[in-house]
Amino acid sequence: MAFDLTEEQDAIRAGVADLCKGFDGEYWRQLDRDQAYPEAFVSALTEGGWLGALVPEEYGGGGLTLADGSLILEEINHQGCNAGACHAQMYTMGTVLKHGSAAQKDRYLPAIASGALRLQAFGVTEPDAGSNTLALRTRADRQADGTWLVNGQKIWTSRFAHSDLMLLLARTGTPGEGQKRWWGLSTFLVDLREAGATIEARPIRTMMNHATVELFINDLVLPADALVGEEGLGFRYILDGMNAERILIAAECVGDGRWFVEKASAYATQREVFGRPIGANQGVQFPIARAHAAVEAADLMRRKAAALFDAGQPCGPEANMAKLLASEASWQAANACLDTHGGFGFAEEYDVERKFRETRLYMTAPVNNNLILAYLGQNVLDMPRSY
Ligand SMILES: Cc1cc2nc3c(=O)[nH]c(=O)nc-3n(C[C@H](O)[C@H](O)[C@H](O)COP(=O)(O)OP(=O)(O)OC[C@H]3O[C@@H](n4cnc5c(N)ncnc54)[C@H](O)[C@@H]3O)c2cc1C
Repeated sequence: MAFDLTEEQDAIRAGVADLCKGFDGEYWRQLDRDQAYPEAFVSALTEGGWLGALVPEEYGGGGLTLADGSLILEEINHQGCNAGACHAQMYTMGTVLKHGSAAQKDRYLPAIASGALRLQAFGVTEPDAGSNTLALRTRADRQADGTWLVNGQKIWTSRFAHSDLMLLLARTGTPGEGQKRWWGLSTFLVDLREAGATIEARPIRTMMNHATVELFINDLVLPADALVGEEGLGFRYILDGMNAERILIAAECVGDGRWFVEKASAYATQREVFGRPIGANQGVQFPIARAHAAVEAADLMRRKAAALFDAGQPCGPEANMAKLLASEASWQAANACLDTHGGFGFAEEYDVERKFRETRLYMTAPVNNNLILAYLGQNVLDMPRSY
């Protein structure tokens, strides 16, 4: 197993790091105060071709592997920026790529690759269903003319206001006898530019700046060709995309973790109290060292998961473990960093409290770590099911 980064991977890291230098702490702090979208940052990433990295070259994208593409998001967070504003532009298109028709791919993928169209909204979660996706109630009913009539409610639809397209999961049928219990949900590609007043979005203010909304969908009409893949198989398609998403989120957490560890080590070395650097005290030094070990271990699992994914092999357990371990490691590093900074950790100007709030999300979303543990316990270790 090779552990060193290739020259190309080093170049990806260096290119992203260079771009991020133009977006310093004050840029993110101001956005955080206003809960505003990092439009300039996302535009710069788009123009640099970074967000189309996973789109195959035949559609005008970068054609990178997941292992290489994940370095982009890792480096964004490692530099103190926040990939959460745009990560979905990299991977949501995977559902269209894998399950869409030739016409859908030709129409959308080149525009997604260039950034002319943003597909970075993903409407799965509903207020009453929560983690139990199969309980979702948004309905799409086929009409006599072949169009679909959609009604329902979604919550936590992030980047909705900054997207042209949204991938929507809705119920189109109920499983009959002998059918799998996940049958009956379907995936749609919604052109938000044509939705008008049939989708009402209400912003949700969150503890970090995340551009997320609640959606009320009333008589939205979708053309017949908005359906992605086969009717009733949408849940399988969403699950298919989840391994890539988990690996990319794990990479972001590794980036966050490294930012916290570096920031904490530097401060612990420079800050003197009682006439010596605080980092000479093991009560300060060891939590940082322990967090470093956790981040590096999580990175190995993320790299294994990405290697399996790129080789086309099953990687569900590894992708889930990578997300679990990396989100816990970045949170451990966040706490060590905050503690190391003492009172200054709470001061906005150090960026620690902002990154602390940002990285905490990944224990909860895009999937709660409890649900990952349940998957490992039930599906990998064959223990009794809780649901
Ligand atoms: C900022 C933010 C952005 C998001 N962006 C998106 C997005 O763009 N698109 C989208 O579709 N969704 C999005 N989500 C939703 C996110 O995926 C869910 O919040 C997450 O999956 C958890 O679901 P829930 O909030 O409904 O919690 P619930 O399902 O209500 O769970 C509450 C708690 O109970 C626990 N729990 C529930 N069932 C079990 C069980 N069987 N065993 C053990 N524990 C259990 C959970 O782990 C959790 O701790 C976002 C969420 C947030 C906060």
